[in-house]
Amino acid sequence: MLALAGYQLGVEFKFFDPNSGAPVGQIGQLIAADYGNHAALSRFLDGVDVVTYEFESIPLSTIEFVAERVTVFPPVEALEIAQDRLLEKSLFQELGIPTAGFAPVESLQDLGDAAGRMGLPAVLKTRRMGYDGKGQTVIRDMSELAAAWKKVGGVPLLLEQYVSFQHELSVIGVRDSAGREVFYPPIENLHREGVLRRSIAPAPCATPEIAALATEYSRRLMERLEYVGVLALELFSADGRVLANEMAPRVHNSGHWTSEGAETSQFENHLRAILSLPLGATTPIGTSLMLNILGHIPPVQAVLAIEGAHLHLYGKAPTEKRKVGHVTVVAQDPAAIEAKVATLLEALEMSGAAL
Ligand code: AMP
Repeated sequence: MLALAGYQLGVEFKFFDPNSGAPVGQIGQLIAADYGNHAALSRFLDGVDVVTYEFESIPLSTIEFVAERVTVFPPVEALEIAQDRLLEKSLFQELGIPTAGFAPVESLQDLGDAAGRMGLPAVLKTRRMGYDGKGQTVIRDMSELAAAWKKVGGVPLLLEQYVSFQHELSVIGVRDSAGREVFYPPIENLHREGVLRRSIAPAPCATPEIAALATEYSRRLMERLEYVGVLALELFSADGRVLANEMAPRVHNSGHWTSEGAETSQFENHLRAILSLPLGATTPIGTSLMLNILGHIPPVQAVLAIEGAHLHLYGKAPTEKRKVGHVTVVAQDPAAIEAKVATLLEALEMSGAAL
């Protein structure tokens, strides 16, 4: 999606992915090799002016190797921090960005101590490599500590207070190397089993106060990190408070609606930022609702028959719960969205799409 937004600006692309069947191979030159393969990385870097990434589990050593040779945006430090929930939450704390209470956990003993201090319920998460709800478990009772440790333990962990949030939000900010910044309006996100299912923007739940706080937290992070590119910040809104959960130093699933629902998409703005081009307006065009399609290819005819529906398929083989595409519906009237989404859900469910 980044490249598709970039070709029309006259940008040329080359891609690196360990998977030789990566969907991006359908649209450009793909070098498929392990992240540790320096010869392949050097071949990839040959003739390249700027490198960016849209996956945050790339080994840091790979990005460091690249950054020693070619300019990399977003900055390596942002990736390093986003890869470790303890570094991430500590940075939020340093910047005065509220979070749920948290404590590092290295042993079952630590877990008992932290749970005793913090109280339950709490969420035990792996510090690294957790995404889409993987590597985490909710603990509701002290009797569940050993089972929780068995489930995710053996690696460095973080225990977090469970937040009884009313809504989940995200803010997508864009910053360039001259320090210019733009922000999309906050987005309201619905997750199920830890996986993003749908996003609506602008977020109906975001009062002007909530929107201002969320945007201010994103600004603090981008400025501290001397950030360049798109940064997504995921937040909980709970009783008027806004708590930061995590950040993603990349274009984000909750911003996919911007392709049709905003003046400039997050993909184009990410490229504009890393290429020192003027940033585009982030103004929304009406209300947008984005639905992720998980596990099944939907009936294209039925989806496209819905006025205002835009289908994006990623060219991925559908396996259970894998995100294989999304649909965005844009409407001027928020009330019209609901009716369109009902039709859309019907169309998608006919295919058995696991929404
Ligand atoms: P994460 O991997 O941290 O983004 O968590 C995935 C999802 O789990 C979030 O989007 C929330 O729905 C839920 N979650 C994560 N942390 C907490 C928490 N401290 N309290 C309540 N729910 C949480």
